[in-house]
Amino acid sequence: MTIFKRIIDREIPAEILFEDEQCLAFRDINGQAPTHVLIIPKKEIPSLDDSTDDDAPLLGHLLCVARKLAVQLQLTDGYRTVINCGRNGGQSVNHLHIHLLGGRPLSWPPG
Ligand code: AMP
Repeated sequence: MTIFKRIIDREIPAEILFEDEQCLAFRDINGQAPTHVLIIPKKEIPSLDDSTDDDAPLLGHLLCVARKLAVQLQLTDGYRTVINCGRNGGQSVNHLHIHLLGGRPLSWPPG
């Protein structure tokens, strides 16, 4: 079981900003920007690579939640959504998640 599943199950605390039947959004414990939120499906999908075409509505929903959170969190100057996947992608928690980052200019390309 991953740490994110334990957050879904309320076994460990998190600063939860949004929840519905499909997903949960909470602040990253090690924020890399003034706003750094993780949006995760309640369905236990280890990574984007493990998702299937059947997950397309869920994946779309996660992005729509990110967009609404960006409005709610007043990221009016823009923001970035990131999905790290696998070892080379820098994924450290094996439960699919979208990072929503904002509140400062973000450099590109990533390291
Ligand atoms: P990734 O490297 O893309 O897998 O991102 C995992 C993210 O989860 C990192 O940004 C961590 O800071 C964050 N994280 C790990 N444990 C927790 C936790 N208990 N609560 C909130 N965020 C966490």
